[in-house]
Amino acid sequence: MKEIIIATKNKGKTKEFQQMFAKRGYQVLTLLDFPELEDVEETGTTFEENAILKAETISKQLGKIVISDDSGLVVDALNGRPGVYSARYAGEDKNDEANNNKVLEELSDVPDDKRTARFYCALAIAVPGQQTETFSGTVEGRILHERQGTNGFGYDPIFFSLDENRAMAELSSEEKNAISHRGKALKQLDEQFDSLFEKESKL
Ligand code: IMP
Repeated sequence: MKEIIIATKNKGKTKEFQQMFAKRGYQVLTLLDFPELEDVEETGTTFEENAILKAETISKQLGKIVISDDSGLVVDALNGRPGVYSARYAGEDKNDEANNNKVLEELSDVPDDKRTARFYCALAIAVPGQQTETFSGTVEGRILHERQGTNGFGYDPIFFSLDENRAMAELSSEEKNAISHRGKALKQLDEQFDSLFEKESKL
């Protein structure tokens, strides 16, 4: 069976990818299957750069197809911050509580019409011997004045989705996947998968 590696240790993300590749007869592995690999440092200044860096580094190490994603929150009134620093915006890595507090504090004097923001996701797919391809997806919204809802993760409780007219943290995971930045980037990859992999099978 052909293998594809998803450069993540996150079980939720893995499930989304598994559904997509299983129907095409691929076995999906993750970084949990390769504990010997060191973390790739995200030194890029854009989501695309980080996704490419991670996918290409691991693909070279393993000689296999690797898909990686990098995502985050972009707030207009903060000149695009937290951006690529979303996971570590308040300092400590992945402290969602502190990250949300920091954004809310920074926007405390900003009126509703200036609280526009979006989630962005870049996906990179590195295939040995081929040019790396990228895909992206966004979801538009507004930063709330306080937390709303308990689902999801990260900045979901302070992000009001303009598609759904609800906070992201009020959506079920199915509802969120249908409109999310990651869902949209994955859909693009899904649509172009056959042409990408046709090239690979001819190598
Ligand atoms: P990563 O791409 O998994 O490293 O995510 C980077 C950071 O962006 C996460 O730690 C979250 O803070 C934020 N983020 C990415 N996607 C989402 C989302 O769907 N909801 C809320 N926060 C997100």
